[in-house]
Amino acid sequence: MVSWGYLKKYLKRYAKHPEMEKSKLYIVVAIDTEGPASYALDSWDKIDKMMKRITSDDFRYAHTDSYSEGLRYSYFVMDWTAFSENPNKRVFGYSAIYEHYLRDLFAETPLKKHKDGVYWHYHHPCKDGKWRYGGWNETWGDNNEYENQINHLIIDRQYFPNIYRAGGTIETNEQSQWLEEWIPFDFSSRGPESISLKSILKKLKNNICGNSTKYLWDWSRAPRDWIFYTPSAEDYQLKGTMARKIFRCAGIKSDEDCVNSKYIKEAFLFASKRKEALFSFFTHDFYVNADQQIYNTAKLIKSIAKDFDTVEYAYLNALDAAQKCLCCEDKGSLGLTVSLDSKILIVKSNKKLFSKQPWLSAKFIDLTYKHILMQQKEETLWTVDLPLDKIEILGVGACDKVGNSTVTLTRIL
Ligand SMILES: [Zn+2]
Repeated sequence: MVSWGYLKKYLKRYAKHPEMEKSKLYIVVAIDTEGPASYALDSWDKIDKMMKRITSDDFRYAHTDSYSEGLRYSYFVMDWTAFSENPNKRVFGYSAIYEHYLRDLFAETPLKKHKDGVYWHYHHPCKDGKWRYGGWNETWGDNNEYENQINHLIIDRQYFPNIYRAGGTIETNEQSQWLEEWIPFDFSSRGPESISLKSILKKLKNNICGNSTKYLWDWSRAPRDWIFYTPSAEDYQLKGTMARKIFRCAGIKSDEDCVNSKYIKEAFLFASKRKEALFSFFTHDFYVNADQQIYNTAKLIKSIAKDFDTVEYAYLNALDAAQKCLCCEDKGSLGLTVSLDSKILIVKSNKKLFSKQPWLSAKFIDLTYKHILMQQKEETLWTVDLPLDKIEILGVGACDKVGNSTVTLTRIL
């Protein structure tokens, strides 16, 4: 029997937080931020015009969420590096795309104002740099360009990736195991869709015309749930015991998992049953009509939400949404303290890391960058002996277990 005291406490709490009784659906709008492409929006002018439209207040607040908040974006910014061919006239270079956004779009509509987020998107190049299959390669063992990119992210942008999206949504067990070492969240799953008949016919047509293509992504065995799963070490598509979390993220104009009312209803239904869900979809900054597609999707979400009055939905950036799904109250920021004792670098963190050690990058006086492994001395203390007379800057980056990320730079010469 429920006591009067308990009932009074419950009613008081409910009166204070009536929203506690509603289910939550967090919505993440992911934008793979890749710069101009000759076959779509082919200049920065065209991309800037489209991006300025979607980041305007009129656009963001045209179809607000349950809290009368507007759209928030998660930019998965990439660097086109280590390619020797450039048939699609991409903008090459470390941080080249990010710097354009920083100077232009992010300067006008600062990320913090709208609580947008910036994360890491990576296309793995082939060892010989040749452009194959649309600039994608599934074999991470043949070169370590991903490490080069992280060295640059830390030193040039003071960012250590907490959230990742795979280029072409191509993932393998090899890649999954590397991610498990360093990065807690991954928004790459297109589960459980298979390559469509339409795509297979397109491939055949391309091959007949001499344009060899290959479908590299496979999420056909991944969960249908609109929430994260922790993958298996044997199969990245199956649920298992890894620490990292993979979230489902559907394409806004894909032949396989195109965002439509079926997907959105599925997400609301999942939220109503589970009390909490995350619905995520992705587009690209160079897509023609990406703005209209985002607008139409937000409009569709608002219209479908009317049928689910027990669910409240909120637009959030990928980190905020992921942390909400983890019921994460661990908002304390991660801090790394770096000191030097003669030639020995000492790094201490104020809490446990997601990785076994922080990522140490060195920029040398010959302008090369290198990832240097450290030795663990205590649970949150690491050291390494360094050739300091050759190093210009040291950068140390890491994430905690709930995706808070930090970087500390130390100028040596
Ligand atoms: Zn991409």
